[in-house]
Amino acid sequence: MSYLNKTTSHAVVLEEPLLFERSHEGAYGFGLPELDVPKINSEKYFGNYSRQKKARLPELSESEVVRHFTRLSTWNYAIDLGIYPLGSCTMKHNPRLNEEVARSADICELHPYDPIQWSQAHLQIMYELQEDLKEITGLKAVSLQPSAGAQGEFAGLLLISAYHRSKGKNRKTIITADTSHGTNPASAALAGFNIVQVQTGVDGYVTLESVQAVLNDDVAGMMLTNPNTLGLFEKNIEQIAKLLHEKDALLYIDGANMNAVLGISRPGDFGADVIHFNLHKTFTTPHGGGGPGSGPIAVSEKLVPFLPVPLIEKKNSEFVLNYNSPKSIGRVKAFYGNFGMFIRAWCYIKALGAHGLRQVSENAILNANYIKSQLKEVLNIPVKGDHLHEIIFNDLNQKENGLETSKLAKALIDYGMHPPTVYFPLCVKNALMVEPTETESIEELDRFINSVKEIIDNNDSSTIYPKRTFREKVDEAKAARELNLKFKFNE
Ligand SMILES: *Cc1c(COP(=O)(O)O)cnc(C)c1O
Repeated sequence: MSYLNKTTSHAVVLEEPLLFERSHEGAYGFGLPELDVPKINSEKYFGNYSRQKKARLPELSESEVVRHFTRLSTWNYAIDLGIYPLGSCTMKHNPRLNEEVARSADICELHPYDPIQWSQAHLQIMYELQEDLKEITGLKAVSLQPSAGAQGEFAGLLLISAYHRSKGKNRKTIITADTSHGTNPASAALAGFNIVQVQTGVDGYVTLESVQAVLNDDVAGMMLTNPNTLGLFEKNIEQIAKLLHEKDALLYIDGANMNAVLGISRPGDFGADVIHFNLHKTFTTPHGGGGPGSGPIAVSEKLVPFLPVPLIEKKNSEFVLNYNSPKSIGRVKAFYGNFGMFIRAWCYIKALGAHGLRQVSENAILNANYIKSQLKEVLNIPVKGDHLHEIIFNDLNQKENGLETSKLAKALIDYGMHPPTVYFPLCVKNALMVEPTETESIEELDRFINSVKEIIDNNDSSTIYPKRTFREKVDEAKAARELNLKFKFNE
């Protein structure tokens, strides 16, 4: 049986021209009533700014526009259609219970400017989420404000900077590792730091010696992604934290991959000073396609005074917004952060409980290692070691037969699934990074595994993938150099 035929269908797929090509003069979606006030001469009021020619907009009826966008939406792939094994991105099922609660009128129909007495329930949700994130990290305080992982990094770095300045020091260096996520050095540069990168060895772990070699009095802190972008737990992390603290440098943990360690290890216990979460990865708030993110930060005692305001606190039995924090770095986001994401993450945590959260990570690790065990005979695993929630392959075994990483990835599209992350992390040549997450069934994992095997078995060097999509693989270089827009206006 071929997985190709089992998994894709060509039944109803409609070609879709541009709205401009569909346009027909005189069509409209909404008619305005006849003018019942005196007509004005717009030129008199707006001079040259008034429109001289008819706007160049397509003319269509409402149903045509609705169909156009609905058809286009069927060209999309989504986590609700099948496995989305995009390593590092943690594309997992978004429980509908969370959606139900987040959309309930009681919760949605409040404005941030409404009186604080009216928003007690909202503040309670935020307060409880903070408390839960404190417990999960073993750290002292949380700010929910940052609206993405990268913004959490930026806010965390501003805290590190404020900490050193409060001691009269202007430390300018941040250490990162080659296994750090790309946002780490980018955020550090944006926050005004110089970056020194340590290289990991063949086994993919940051060593004590490599940190020792670059540590000096100018180092404000180190950013470590843990588990790192190879899916490995930094086993020297506790000693690295000690080493940094001896020099009064702080340890930033990129916790976007906390989904691998929930209830198993806590950054606060091994010496982290600040960590960001990605609620939109670990805690199942929807992401991709531009959905809003949320990147709360948790901090150790040393950084509490600098947290963004307002702080969400509980005084007696009331929830309050505290703006009185003289050393605060100020706001990093309008109002209180992406509130809709807090509700979803809060629901997820409350629904699972401590035991359930640990199971999330155990199953994420199990699923990744199942794929590893089933594909290790065919795909090369460039960095050995104990992979947690994701596994990095590359094309070493297939390349000479013309099946390089990008080709394998594009072929998976023909099998009806989203390709894994490719050519990342940069420290692995031609990486293919697979993160199944805990929400895939064994049947879906097998579909992925067997599809990969079938692509390898049937590899023919002349085939260009994908073959079964509307658009074949574009010549990326040509598309960039000879930009040829399909629609041209008739002047
Ligand atoms: C996704 C990710 C980030 C960035 O998060 P955004 O919300 O996209 O800004 C940072 N670090 C790691 C390890 C990630 O996986």
